[in-house]
Amino acid sequence: MNLIFMGPPGAGKGTQARQVAVKYGIPQLSTGDMLRSAVKAGSEVGLKAKAAMESGGLVTDDIVIGIIGDRIGESDCASGFILDGFPRTVAQAEALEKLLAERSMKIDSVIDITADNEALVARITGRSTCSKCGEGYHKQHKAPAKDGVCDKCGGALATRADDNEETVRNRLEVYEAQTAPVIGFYKDSGSFKTVDGMQNMDDVFASLCNILG
Ligand code: ADP
Ligand code: ADP
Ligand code: ZN
Repeated sequence: MNLIFMGPPGAGKGTQARQVAVKYGIPQLSTGDMLRSAVKAGSEVGLKAKAAMESGGLVTDDIVIGIIGDRIGESDCASGFILDGFPRTVAQAEALEKLLAERSMKIDSVIDITADNEALVARITGRSTCSKCGEGYHKQHKAPAKDGVCDKCGGALATRADDNEETVRNRLEVYEAQTAPVIGFYKDSGSFKTVDGMQNMDDVFASLCNILG
């Protein structure tokens, strides 16, 4: 099962993709996570991506297309994958079509998770992530039992450098200008579905499972 999770920053793509990945036994391919690892490692890709990520702009298409092209060719993607945060431009969506066709693959479902802007800002500015296992938290909606400590593995929770109010507004504008048009690319294909991301996390997951079967 090959899936695309779309939606503005903070909609809940990562939260849901993690759970769907476990349930269906397919990997979550988050370009944001991959780029953050590259920045941390100081690799060539990381050095190229850093400034755009810090300002809330998009990393260039060629970089993310290269990353995804390599990743979907790996053996663990043979039985399916979830694209989380890619494609984010129409050019990326077009390149993805080509990458899939070359490998005789296709997308089964494109799921757009929606949420309103004020909720998105509150979600992003309250977000933290376990630096050890990647579990996501939120200071109101999913607070850890002990401040700053992961419930699952005891790892330290970290906040992202770009999850501040100023950068968030820019990311929402970038989403409207560059990523929202990707919906038009998929809308008329039978595989496009929308899920109401304003529901609580469990209900969003239930809606997704309902669609995916
Ligand atoms: P995205 O990957 O789309 O940027 P995340 O999955 O990281 O979004 O979620 C952003 C923040 O909002 C996280 O702190 C997460 O815990 C929280 N969150 C996710 N889904 C919901 C929801 N349905 N209701 C309330 N908070 C949520
Ligand atoms: P969020 O889920 O909060 O939107 P991500 O973790 O998906 O954040 O992405 C963080 C940053 O990484 C983005 O603001 C952007 O700079 C970069 N990025 C991630 N995916 C892409 C992509 N497909 N194209 C261009 N830039 C990307
Ligand atoms: Zn953890």
